Amino acid sequence: MSIDIQQNVNLRTLNTLGLDVAAEYFVRVESVEDLRAALAFSREKRHELLVLGGGSNLVLHRYVRGLCIQIAISGYQLDGPRVSVGAGTNWHQFVLATLRDKRFGLENLSLIPGQAGAAPIQNIGAYGVELAERLVRVDAIDIETGEDISLTNSECEFGYRQSVFKTRLLDKAVITAITLDLDLSFEPELGYVGLSQYLDAQKLAISADTVSQAVCAVRLSKLPNPIVVGNVGSFFKNPVVGAEQIAGLKSDNPDMPMYRQDNGDYKLSAAFLIDLAGLKGMRVGQATVSTQHALVIQNEGGATGREVLALAGQVQKIIKSRFDIGLDIEPRVFPSRRS
Ligand code: FAD
Ligand code: NAP
Repeated sequence: MSIDIQQNVNLRTLNTLGLDVAAEYFVRVESVEDLRAALAFSREKRHELLVLGGGSNLVLHRYVRGLCIQIAISGYQLDGPRVSVGAGTNWHQFVLATLRDKRFGLENLSLIPGQAGAAPIQNIGAYGVELAERLVRVDAIDIETGEDISLTNSECEFGYRQSVFKTRLLDKAVITAITLDLDLSFEPELGYVGLSQYLDAQKLAISADTVSQAVCAVRLSKLPNPIVVGNVGSFFKNPVVGAEQIAGLKSDNPDMPMYRQDNGDYKLSAAFLIDLAGLKGMRVGQATVSTQHALVIQNEGGATGREVLALAGQVQKIIKSRFDIGLDIEPRVFPSRRS
C-alpha cells in the first residue's frame, strides 16, 4: 500500500460551485487501508483536514491549509433486502443499481449529486423521502484514533437535513460505507404534486423505474445544472415556524405554501420567500441568486467563496427583516467560519 500525496492541488473541478481554491496537500483514497494511511499523515502534520466526496454541498472560502482526502472507496453488496455500498460510490449510480436489482425505496432520491458516503451527513432528502427511513448502519473511521466505528440509525441522530455528523461528530469521523434496508416490492411515494403531475402528464404507468425517470426529468427541468453553472443545489434549508406565526404570514400572502409537521409546526418554502422578496438575480461580485430557482446561489464565473457567503448573508438579512424568519445555510462552509 502506498498513497500518493500531492501538493498545492486546485479543487475548482472537484466542487460543484466551481470555487477556485487549492489544498496544500491532496490525496485520493480507494481503500480503507489508504484512508488510514492518509489520516495518519494528517495527524502527524496536525493540519486542517477536508474530507471530500463529490463536492456538491460544500462552500470553500479560503485555501485549505492541510490535507484534502478525496473518498474513492467503492463496492456494492446485496444481502436480501439489505444493501451495503462504499462511501465513494456515486449516489445516483447507486440508486440505479438498486433499481436494476429490484430493491426499492430510493426512487425519489434519484439524481441527487454526490457520493453515498456523504448521504448521511445531511440525511439527504427529496420528494418526501429521506435517507434516514432506510439507513441501518454507517461504518466510519475515527479521525483522532484511526479506529473503526459503527453507528446505528438512532445513533446518527437524523433530523431534517441534519445528523450527528453535522454536530458532535463534525470533522471527527470519515464514513467508509453505509448499509440500507430496502424493499423487495415497490410502494410509490407520490405526495409531491410536481411528481404526480409529471407522471399524469406523460401518461406513465407507475413503477419504480418511471418514478425514478420522473424525478430525474422534473429535477432537470427545475434546477440549474451544476455542469453548466456552478451551484450546490438548495443554499438554505426550508424554515420551520410555529403555528402562532402562520396566521400573519397567510393573511399577508394567501398563496404561501405551508406544510404542517407532526408536532404542529409548519415548514415553509424558502424558495417562495426569497422569490416573494424579489431577490432572484441579486448579486455580490460573480455570485447571484439564480433566476431559475430562488433557493440556488450560483457562480456566474470566477465567484469566490467569500462572495457566495456575502450574498447568502444579505439574503438572510432581508428575509429576517421582511418576514421575521431565519434561514439556515444548508451546505458545509469549509473551514467553519469560527476557525
Ligand atoms: P461533499 O459536498 O463532498 O461534502 C459535503 C459534506 O460532507 C462535507 O462536510 C464533507 O466533508 C462531508 N463528507 C463527504 N463525504 C464524507 C465521508 N465519506 N465521510 C465524512 N464526511 C464526508 N441534497 C439533498 O439532500 N437533496 C437534494 O435533492 C439535493 N439536490 C441537489 C441538487 C443539486 C443540483 C446539487 C448541486 C446539490 C443537491 N443536494 C441535495 C446537495 C448534495 O448533493 C448532497 O448533500 C450530497 O449528499 C453531497 O454529497 P457530496 O459527496 O457531494 O458531499
Ligand atoms: P418543490 O416541489 O417546488 O417544493 C418547494 C418546497 O416545498 C420543497 O423544498 C419541499 O420541501 C416543500 N414541499 C413541496 N411539496 C411538499 C409536500 N407535499 N409535503 C411537504 N413539503 C413539500 O421543490 P423543488 O425545489 O422542486 O425540490 C423538489 C425536491 O427536491 C424537494 O424535496 C427538495 O428538498 C429536493 N431538492 C433538494 C435540494 C438540495 O440541495 N437540498 C436541491 C434540489 C431539490 P422539502 O425540501 O423539505 O422536501
